[in-house]
Order: sequence, then structure tokens, then C-alpha cells
Amino acid sequence: MLTRRTLFLLMGGTALAAGGVAATRVGVQPEPPAPPATDAANHLLWRNWSGIQHAYPANRAAPADEGELADLVRTAPGPIRAVGSGHSFMPLVPTPGTLVTLDRIAGLDGHDMGALTANVRAGTRLADLGPALAAVGQEMPNLPDINKQSLAGALSTATHGTGVTLMALHGNVQAFRLATADGQILDCDATRNADLFAAAKVGLGAFGVLTRVTLKNTPLRRVERRVWLQPVEQTLAEWPVLQAQHRNVEFYYLPFTGMTAVITHDETDAPATPRPPTQDNDAVMSLKGLRDWLGWSPALRRRVAKHVLSSLEPERVVAESWQLLSNERPIRFNEMEFHLPRDAQIPALQEVIEAIETRRHDVFFPIEARVIAPDDAWLSPFHDRPSGSIAVHAYYKDDYQFLFEVVEPILRRHGGRPHWGKLNSLKAADFTALYPRFRDAMDIHRQVDPEGRFLNDYLRGVLADA
Ligand SMILES: Cc1cc2nc3c(=O)[nH]c(=O)nc-3n(C[C@H](O)[C@H](O)[C@H](O)COP(=O)(O)OP(=O)(O)OC[C@H]3O[C@@H](n4cnc5c(N)ncnc54)[C@H](O)[C@@H]3O)c2cc1C
Repeated sequence: MLTRRTLFLLMGGTALAAGGVAATRVGVQPEPPAPPATDAANHLLWRNWSGIQHAYPANRAAPADEGELADLVRTAPGPIRAVGSGHSFMPLVPTPGTLVTLDRIAGLDGHDMGALTANVRAGTRLADLGPALAAVGQEMPNLPDINKQSLAGALSTATHGTGVTLMALHGNVQAFRLATADGQILDCDATRNADLFAAAKVGLGAFGVLTRVTLKNTPLRRVERRVWLQPVEQTLAEWPVLQAQHRNVEFYYLPFTGMTAVITHDETDAPATPRPPTQDNDAVMSLKGLRDWLGWSPALRRRVAKHVLSSLEPERVVAESWQLLSNERPIRFNEMEFHLPRDAQIPALQEVIEAIETRRHDVFFPIEARVIAPDDAWLSPFHDRPSGSIAVHAYYKDDYQFLFEVVEPILRRHGGRPHWGKLNSLKAADFTALYPRFRDAMDIHRQVDPEGRFLNDYLRGVLADA
């Protein structure tokens, strides 16, 4: 039944069988150049996951507890930037000053089964949190596409999954503890430091360093995951119904194929089934193969892809949701994602597809559409509005400027707010116009970090200028 291996083989074979096109194949691409391993002062290189951000922090710290962290933020050379797992594409983490990781402040710090809450140390990776919560009968209500992030890193950029009734991860934060620039550890929730709680829930590491988070969870459940392919016109027409019918639903448009992969997760009491090894990566490399071999002819590329894809069988697997919602993504890419008013999502997506298929024959990575419920965090891109997201990816060896030139203008015209961790060119004035509470958040920022100890150059342009 596993189909994506078949897809890989079929596409590879079919593309090769097209014959006579070898001369037009995209050449073997070099690795993008790596920055030197140290700078002139012998400071070690830090790089993000995709490789496009880097820095040489003069000072690196891994405090073992809140006390050590509080001393550090008061005395260490700034800018002080917390790092999670470095999976953001924007220059949020780079600093010439102090880079601080909470890798030693990680793990579950108690739970309440009746209230379905858990206290989680902020450096915990989502991949570790899933099984830890499952062991006490809980799960996070939703998860993103990968689980490599630290909890604090994920919350700080409004990381989200998909599902019309499901908020981004920070929407289920009941309280947190924050180390602020003056060396205090503040308890923040709806009643204690309430404005700071609202401002720093999606805080970009600019208000201080999160040390512990109280999450409101749900009881551990199994879900049925289904993946199937269908023509894009059908998916776009069914999208409102799909959203209403499934707990989690998303789709990927496969560029230059006219086809989508639809993915749903729904709660079930059915017994768990074995999860076959993922074939997503084979599928992505197959799309790359089609681009490399047939990119010169969109019509042929589409015909070959459609023919191959139409013969594929759907997938079905049952497991606990923390085991299924997140995936392995070993193929590196750069990404832009905007969150749009729900009604604007499909019109914007249609424009993006049209623009890419007209102007950028080199694009092959699937384009992702998801839905997110509103929340009240002041810097949340989902603040006060039900959202539909559109994410466009570029293979890490490929040019990604088209994201700014072709994709971003469309998404902005449709009222999109960018994912804080993903590529965008917005500055303070843009955010002020898009976020009703942006200035309020900046007022709070000035109170807790008057000297801007947590601001690097990028964040100064976004926050300090507001
Ligand atoms: C392959 C891949 C898949 C992804 N999938 C999704 C997805 O499905 N949905 C989605 O929404 N996003 C997704 N993202 C984006 C990702 O979730 C965010 O960029 C997230 O912030 C990364 O978490 P991190 O732990 O790597 O944080 P980092 O990138 O290291 O840091 C992000 C921000 O968090 C701050 N921070 C880190 N720790 C702390 C702390 N203790 N206190 C205060 N601030 C802190 C940093 O200073 C920085 O501002 C994906 C990214 C990649 C590379």
C-alpha cells in the first residue's frame, strides 16, 4: 500500500524515460558557501537549521537553573539572545553578545491530572515533551509539522499546527516564568503581571527568557491519519467542508502538477497500526527530479506528474496524536509563511500558484495551506482573527529571493501577517498597522527592558522603532 516509494521510483523512472531531455537537466548544485568556523576574535560560528542565519557570539551560556540564568541576564554582555533549536529562518537569534540555551532547564516539572495542566521547563524539546506528557495521560492539543523545537522557541514565534478549532501552541499557555533584564524571575498569568503575560506570550525572546511554562493540555488520544491525493480544483472546492469535518486538516499543493496531498487527523478508538517509514522525503526529491529533468516544459512536467500521481493509493495509520502530527524533515529548505484572514486564504493561494507557475519554473517544494483558531496574545499573528496560512518553501540550495519578489507582495495584499520565525521583510511600521496591540506590547517592552539588552539588530528594527 505504501505509495510514496512507488511515486519516487515511478517519477524517477518516468522522467528518465522521457529521453532526450538529459541535456536540459539542472546541473548538480553546489552546497551554499559556509561561513568560517570562527571569526577574527576566535568566536565559534552559530548557524540556524537552514544555514541562512549565522553569528559569532562572544559569550555562550547554558545555565543550570533559574538562579544562574537570573545572574546571567543581569551581568552578561548584550545583546542577550535565547536560542531554542535554531529552527527559525529570520535573524531572531544571532547576536555578537551572549547566546543562552536552556538545554539544561528542560523536562516536566509537575502536572495536575484533574486540571489537565503541566508545568514544563522552557528548554524542553517538543519531541521529548510528547512522550513525557503521554506518560501522565496528557497531550498538547495540537502540534506543528516538526517537533525539534524547544517549547520556549516554539511559543516565542507563535508556532502552530492546523485545525479550525485549534489555536497555535501559545494559545494553551496558562502561565509562565520569565527572567527579565534586571535579574528578576517574574510569574506571569492572567492575574499576575497580566499585561506582560499578554505581550510576552509570543515574545520573540525580547521581553526576557522564559524558564517555565504551564500548559493546558487535553487527555491523551489516538488519531487516525489519512493522506490522499486529489486535483487542486477539488480540494479548493471542498476546503470549507474539509475544515469542518476534520480535527486537523491541511493540504499541500504540488507545484506544476495540478494535484494536492490532503492530510487529516481525527480522534479514534481504533487500535494503533504500525507507522510505515515516511516517504515524504522521497516524494519531495521526486518533485525535484521532475523540476530538474522537465522544468523546461511545464506542460510535459504536469502531464508526467499527473499520470504518475493519479495511480497512487491513499495512506491510513492510527497512533497517539503526538506520534503522528509531527514529521521528520531532513531535506533543508527556506520558508515564507503568512497568516491571512480565513476568507482570503484560497484567493491568495490561487494567485501564488498562478504567479509561481508563470514566473518561477524552478520551484518544486509543495506549498502548504493550514487553518488556525484565533487567540488573544498581543503579538500573535492570529490575534483576534480566524486565520488561514500559506507557506511557500525553497530548497536550501535554490534561490529564495522569489519569496520576497513574487510571493510576499501577494500575501501582504491579502492582509497577511507573517510567521515571526519565517522569512518576511516587514518592519515596525508594518507590524504597527497589522497588530492592534503592537504599541501596547512595545510599551511593556520598554518597561521591562529599557536598555534593550534583549534586542539584536533585527529586533531593534521591528520593536524599538515602533
Ligand atoms: C523544518 C521546519 C519545520 C517547521 N514547521 C513549523 C510548523 O509546522 N509550524 C510553525 O508554526 N512553525 C514551524 N517552523 C518554524 C519554527 O517552529 C519556529 O521558527 C520556532 O520558533 C523554532 O523553535 P526553536 O526552538 O528552533 O527556536 P529558535 O529558532 O532557536 O528561536 C526562536 C525564538 O525563540 C526565542 N527563544 C528561544 N528560547 C527562548 C526562551 N527560553 N525564552 C524566550 N525566548 C526564547 C529566540 O530568542 C527566538 O526569538 C518550522 C521550522 C522548520 C525549520
